[in-house]
Amino acid sequence: MLLNEQQYQIQGLDVLKICEEFGTPLYVYDTGKIKEKLEILQKSFNALPYRIKYAAKALTNIAVLQFLQRQGVGLDVVSIQEARLGMLAGFEAKDILFTPNCVSFEEIQEAVSLGLVINIDNISILEQFGHTYGDSVPCCIRINPHIVAGGNAKIQVGHIDSKFGISILQMRHVHRVIQTNNIRVTGIHMHTGSDILEAEVFLRGANILFEVAEQFPNLEFIDFGSGFKVAYREGDPITDIADLGRQLTTAYEAFCQRYGSRPEVWFEPGKYLVSEAGFFFVKANVIKQTPATAFVGVDSGMNHLIRPMFYDAYHHIENVSNPSGAPRIYTVVGYICETDTFGIDRKLAEVREGDILVFRNAGAYAFSMASNYNSRFRPAEVLIHEGKAHLIRKRETLDDLTRNQVPMEW
Ligand SMILES: *Cc1c(COP(=O)(O)O)cnc(C)c1O
Repeated sequence: MLLNEQQYQIQGLDVLKICEEFGTPLYVYDTGKIKEKLEILQKSFNALPYRIKYAAKALTNIAVLQFLQRQGVGLDVVSIQEARLGMLAGFEAKDILFTPNCVSFEEIQEAVSLGLVINIDNISILEQFGHTYGDSVPCCIRINPHIVAGGNAKIQVGHIDSKFGISILQMRHVHRVIQTNNIRVTGIHMHTGSDILEAEVFLRGANILFEVAEQFPNLEFIDFGSGFKVAYREGDPITDIADLGRQLTTAYEAFCQRYGSRPEVWFEPGKYLVSEAGFFFVKANVIKQTPATAFVGVDSGMNHLIRPMFYDAYHHIENVSNPSGAPRIYTVVGYICETDTFGIDRKLAEVREGDILVFRNAGAYAFSMASNYNSRFRPAEVLIHEGKAHLIRKRETLDDLTRNQVPMEW
């Protein structure tokens, strides 16, 4: 989004007009930005036989999935429902990796019957998979390399206390189960967390995975997961993907020498592809001055954007309606009846009641985590593509809140 002659625009469209047309609160996504991020990955991994599997849970709107499908990427899903949304969007089952955690074996069987690529995350399921399918259905194994990666304890998933993946210390047991059941392992996988800044930390995990890979002779792919960090504030350090690509390519070539063939290299970016492409627009309902604080109360809350309250995520906030107003200090809060804070002590151009504010980095884990708490409607979503604004999800109505409720017949 550009500030252009005192006008905020996305692909040349005035965002205030978009808010007027579709109302607030409103999620808006920019396909141009998604494409730009995808191209950085493509350029950086160009020397590898790579595949991108977009992690659907970041943003699951079908129109966004369709856009990514048309860019030639595959999908990483964590539930059978995400897989079905992916298939509705046009993804072929064989291009969808199913990476659930703690699901029932019935859900795994459903994924097999759909034809998804199965990623197995615990030994109990691996045993049942082996008993049921023997060597007739291949699978991937999710390894937990026990490295601490990423800056936020609530989104680290590769460390020793994590519930994700099969511990690298259990490989002996894994091989017992595989040999006994003739399981065909065609992939190995790791995903150690989000917001990994250092290429070096990523590489450390990758090298562990390459070592594990040598224990599996018939791999078709090695999946390095994701966790690439994006910028939340101006000047934030981000993962240097080009550097990561170079270092990983060197490590990969050395691995192939030892291994004797060239498995594909997969990545599963979610946040990296869609975070910066998303904008969340809200309206300032009230300005409330208390003895200590100037609050801006907006027409949304943590029901629509839970990340600040959930794991202290920072979302940059700007006043779109009055960009040249004098800067003042505000605490921006939502309308949910609980502590519901979006940002404390933010410097915003003077906010007047009725002004439109924007939250940046609202593409990933934003709408996809929204709920109806306080019986509020979830926002509409708009996709800006080739200079046009497309409504891709209607704002909810009372019917959406009551649809599955069954009042008693007293
Ligand atoms: C959530 C998730 C991702 C995506 O992580 P980001 O930090 O959004 O890039 C990738 N792989 C798996 C298995 C995940 O659960």
